[in-house]
Amino acid sequence: MTAGQTTRAERMAAPLARQVVKELAAEHGACLRPVQLRRTEIDTGHVEQVLIPCGHTLASVCPSCAERARILRAAQCREGWHLDHEPVIDPDPATEEQRDLITDRAEAQEGRDLLACAGLGTSDLDEQIEELDEQITDSGLRGKVLPARPRRHRSTRRRQDAAPLPRRTVNPRTVGKTYTTPDGKTFRPSLFVTLTSPSYGRVGEDGAPAHPDTYDYQRAARDALHFAALFDRFIQNLRRYVGYDLQYFAAIEPQRRLAPHVHLAIRGTISRHELREVIAATYHQVWWPSSEVAKYDGGHLPVWDEQTGTFLDPDTGEILPTWDQALDAIGDGDEPRHVARFGVRFDAQGVLAGSRDASRCIGYLTKYLTKHLGDCHQATTDAQAGHAIRLADALRYEPCSPTCANWLRYGIQPRNARPGLRPGACKGKAHRREYLGYAGRRVLVSRKWSGKTLADHRADRRIWLTSALGLPATDPRRYSWEPVKPGDPDHMPNGQRLLHVVADRIQWQTALELARRRAAEADLPATGSAA
Ligand SMILES: [Zn+2]
Ligand SMILES: [Zn+2]
Repeated sequence: MTAGQTTRAERMAAPLARQVVKELAAEHGACLRPVQLRRTEIDTGHVEQVLIPCGHTLASVCPSCAERARILRAAQCREGWHLDHEPVIDPDPATEEQRDLITDRAEAQEGRDLLACAGLGTSDLDEQIEELDEQITDSGLRGKVLPARPRRHRSTRRRQDAAPLPRRTVNPRTVGKTYTTPDGKTFRPSLFVTLTSPSYGRVGEDGAPAHPDTYDYQRAARDALHFAALFDRFIQNLRRYVGYDLQYFAAIEPQRRLAPHVHLAIRGTISRHELREVIAATYHQVWWPSSEVAKYDGGHLPVWDEQTGTFLDPDTGEILPTWDQALDAIGDGDEPRHVARFGVRFDAQGVLAGSRDASRCIGYLTKYLTKHLGDCHQATTDAQAGHAIRLADALRYEPCSPTCANWLRYGIQPRNARPGLRPGACKGKAHRREYLGYAGRRVLVSRKWSGKTLADHRADRRIWLTSALGLPATDPRRYSWEPVKPGDPDHMPNGQRLLHVVADRIQWQTALELARRRAAEADLPATGSAA
């Protein structure tokens, strides 16, 4: 072989230039999928290409953006946990347009109710009211002037039974109690709580069942599907029990056995005894039709009838019961289809503001937020892999919601039935392997936690950054923005965008480092030495 020539193996061993750019970007916390925008200064017409981070929360998609999102959640958690004053949440005053819309809505309602009283038709005004409600929402007002009219009446008797707990009226206070020690020190303890799902069968250290044949996969699947509703109920019960507007920051995570559990930072403190009582009394009843018998399976499936817009039995041509009809068929003597509860085992510890414990708990609360539930624990043994497959199988035909295609398997038309629905192929996230049956939000934050939205917390960070770098605050109203799509003469391919963000990021980190050093030097006494 002559000098200068390389073998194929040697060439393959050299790192790929593009891959190195990606690695550098990740190392410097730059977004791996920056979005290109064209920014035009309205007064001068000056045009600039701006790259903004993609903002994805999954590390598998963009590790830098996911890590930033996780840090933001940690900041949100920290700020609300030990708050010693009530957060102020004052809505903006209504605009003239919004007030006009509400006035119109009032007149329409009065007209409608007068007609109804006289036994006359109200359909015209009902239509007008519907339009006004839409305009009210579009105008930026929150909520509705009236609760939506219930679509059905009979199933309302299927209310949730009240938990057997003492009930107190809920005081609007959200801040926990302060305690004073004999020597006059005051402290305001908060709480870190972990709630788990019940047992579905014994599992080993690795989370795999000791006896897969008797492990209750159906219950595990249903508990996961209804976990969010159960959590809601728990918070409701807890607030009534403690008698104040208790605030929480909660994160849903999987245990090794792949069942969801929830970590909560709670503002204020509750005794273990009280928690145990509320957990034991909390349950969520699912009043859905029965899905015990699979009536249609394999190639033998209900067929869609274009004319009636319904699903029919493939043999007899009979129309299948609709969702509402199936609900109505639930009798007084029937049991709920599922009752979700928490396991009796829970964990609770008191935490003081600013302590190492507090930081550790915030670490737990945000640890897995950058991963899908199903990717938090990787299966390394056959037993673990088999367990994950059996759980996914159990979730495949479990109806995930009233609109789930799986209802067809049990001879019921799902709500909003439409052509193309096929049992076992529901698009609902809960059925997908990476969700483990829980398709809800991973972070659940009560409204008066920090008194700020995630966007507010993000803005706080930006203000801190621009002031640390000594940059002038820019007025967003000075610019107009538009996306730059492929085909646009200004469009940069992803490789080029990545080079830009890496260069920007390094420049910016150097500037920040310099600003930090200056700030540290300024804090030193004028004559003192750093050594
Ligand atoms: Zn990104
Ligand atoms: Zn589904």
